[in-house]
Amino acid sequence: MVYETGNRTVDEAVARVLDGESLDRTDGLALMAQPVEDLAPAADAVRAEFGDGTVDACSIVNAKAGNCAEDCGFCAQSVHFDTGIDTYGLLDPEEILEAAKRAERDGAQRFGVVVAEKGVSKEKRPEEWQDVLRAIRLVRDETDVEVDASLGILTEEEARIIAEEGVNHYNHNIETSPRYFPEIVSTHSFEDRVETLERAKDAGMDLCAGVILGMGETPTDRVDAALALRDVGISSLPVNVLNPVAGTPLGDDDGADITTPEIIRTVAVYRLLHPHARVRLTGGREANLDADEQHLPFEAGADGILTGDYLTTDGQSPADDIEIIEEAGLEPNTESNEFDPEAVKARVDDDPAVETAAGTATSNATDD
Ligand code: SF4
Repeated sequence: MVYETGNRTVDEAVARVLDGESLDRTDGLALMAQPVEDLAPAADAVRAEFGDGTVDACSIVNAKAGNCAEDCGFCAQSVHFDTGIDTYGLLDPEEILEAAKRAERDGAQRFGVVVAEKGVSKEKRPEEWQDVLRAIRLVRDETDVEVDASLGILTEEEARIIAEEGVNHYNHNIETSPRYFPEIVSTHSFEDRVETLERAKDAGMDLCAGVILGMGETPTDRVDAALALRDVGISSLPVNVLNPVAGTPLGDDDGADITTPEIIRTVAVYRLLHPHARVRLTGGREANLDADEQHLPFEAGADGILTGDYLTTDGQSPADDIEIIEEAGLEPNTESNEFDPEAVKARVDDDPAVETAAGTATSNATDD
């Protein structure tokens, strides 16, 4: 396949990616400076070459909310910030199963059990750990969705156990570049996060790890974050955009520090740097993109979406997400769960009050 926009930097990069080459940091920085009008169709062509023409939907449940001892500057669930969110202890495993069933009904192909806090500790909170395992087994045995988990920092033993229970993807976002991370979080390090990802991978799980854009990082940070993720070896790359939460250090600004063209440009560059990963639009997309802009990332290489609600903020309806996917000329993935997109759209049309996929979720981001 030959792809030409007339932009030499973009065309040469695409030709190398299609040839199986990995782009490097110099390439990423050069691409980040190119017009989005050239990058978007080029990234779309790379997605078309390596992807399957579908957009994969996942959904999450915030299985335990708030009271987290960490101080991630964007997060409503940290005890360090007065955000007024509803906090609750670990949901009953049956409630988590019900959220998974709703997600499956609404077209999610994978379902993530997310627990706020640095980690669900097998040693420190054995009962909670056992309840999480029970929930994982219930979702595994009683639905057709793939079970994912986001339980914070993992030991080797914990990673092995949840992998053996059938967890498919382990989510643990790196949030931003190694350079910028200490500006956002002081209670744990970038390396802590990478070590957990490595333990999850060594245990046999696929990795879902991404970023939050618009936290004051530079375009260079965005490229460096993507390259750090490539070093770890991910298969799903969630792209969150900051949805500021009042009371957090990043909540009192005028919104995310990023424009729509920059969001789309970053998605396109991520597709070129990660030609085989699912580049997944996640938290903050509705807050930062107008309704008539939401399809644009999916015409710039994105091929995954988090549907339903986020951890502490509401998402839009699954029907709206399906329409965005179709507007971009793509189809929802039905590999794990052969749902009928028309039925989802019809049901929500009939009953606008229907709960969204992860109905129990009430942070901005998609990880703990
Ligand atoms: S992002 Fe996770 S670790 Fe950081 S404060 Fe929020 S819940 Fe805690």
